[in-house]
Amino acid sequence: MASLAFASTRGGAKPVPLSTAIQHGLAPDGGLYMPTVLPPLDVNSLAGLALPHLARVALSGFFAADRLQLQLGSIADSAFNFPAPITSVGGCPDPLFALELYHGPTAAFKDFGARFLSACLQGMEEFSATKPLTILVATSGDTGGAVAAAFYRRLGMRVVILYPKGLVSPRQEQQLTCWGENVVSLRVAGTFDDCQRLVKEALVDPDLSQQHRFSSANSINIGRLLPQMIYYMSASLEVQRSTGLAASFIVPAGNLGNALAALWARALGLPIRRIILAHNVNRTVPEYLQTGVWHPRPSIGTLASAMDVGNPSNMERIRAMYPEIALLRKQISASSVYDATIRLRIREDFMNYQREWCPHTATAAEVYALLPALERQNPWVLVSTAHPAKFNDIVEPILGKTIAVPECLERLLHLPQQVSDIPATLQALRHAIA
Ligand SMILES: *Cc1c(COP(=O)(O)O)cnc(C)c1O
Repeated sequence: MASLAFASTRGGAKPVPLSTAIQHGLAPDGGLYMPTVLPPLDVNSLAGLALPHLARVALSGFFAADRLQLQLGSIADSAFNFPAPITSVGGCPDPLFALELYHGPTAAFKDFGARFLSACLQGMEEFSATKPLTILVATSGDTGGAVAAAFYRRLGMRVVILYPKGLVSPRQEQQLTCWGENVVSLRVAGTFDDCQRLVKEALVDPDLSQQHRFSSANSINIGRLLPQMIYYMSASLEVQRSTGLAASFIVPAGNLGNALAALWARALGLPIRRIILAHNVNRTVPEYLQTGVWHPRPSIGTLASAMDVGNPSNMERIRAMYPEIALLRKQISASSVYDATIRLRIREDFMNYQREWCPHTATAAEVYALLPALERQNPWVLVSTAHPAKFNDIVEPILGKTIAVPECLERLLHLPQQVSDIPATLQALRHAIA
């Protein structure tokens, strides 16, 4: 099989093989790497496969003739070493499922992408390299913890985490700062968008790139997005097997990485009917679909803080796939949910179904609850992006009970914090990572 080329969404950089796209994170013209075509996939060959095996088969076209091709098996094994079960929501009169993506080391779906990316980068490391590879990551809460866990103590690699001061939950902050060693945690006086801007500026700054070997681990890195297709494949095949119908997904959305993975899975031929994005009051995407005007803006703080994104970076990829708004509207729809409604939904679904949602998953549950009754006769899947114990400060008062903490999370909660405060300037970042 010939190798697949990855091109920039802005068209100003030459197409590169997958491993180069992963290594660079961002294309030199400031755009995002996209596969120039989707490699053909025999969907029938995927039925019944466990995640690591499914990943190996489904991603082989993307890795064909790349220098990482022979390592795809071991990369898939190390990224998919925990399950992504799809569970039926008991008590619901209609066919409703939760896709539980929170069984990894930091209890959120980002563990899949972070672990896959770290295995890819490790697979490319030259042992002769004199400078460590510095992974820059801006996080609105969950990314940083997942990336830190995935790279912690990996030889020849260093992680620099930037997160907005006061805008992540106490438990998230603990997971961002409990590492030390090859993990540098920076608490930025600003918003998530500031953190993301700083990372983008650093990656294209000529001086800094001379001094350091940079890569990025945000959802702009294609190495995080590709593995996220795998759980949509597995879940949609399972729903088709058990109900005979194509699944529809409601995806809690922020930077749209998870949404893009769902779109790719469907474009590759998986049995997926509708895809609805559930946003909090950061309404850039719902408004774009409504008006056709792309109007990014500063983010607003909400209960679903990992989705507080006013300028979702992966929209650039989605618009590259579906440049006409009319086409895009056929592919996805999007809704926005208020904080007060998130609270009500968490309480109501616990009373009705005994399910404990994190605030992000609750946005999806709310969008589901508002669907017309006829539409709910189809099988729907709530993409459950994080474990509620990560957001205990929000969920426990609503439910009036404590949430059991998964073992992996429990361990991290007792380590000492190591963090530096910086203003939101490139100069401060330059200094902090010198
Ligand atoms: C990151 C995150 C999201 C948003 O995912 P995107 O891929 O950025 O759209 C939703 N829920 C949780 C828990 C997250 O950590």
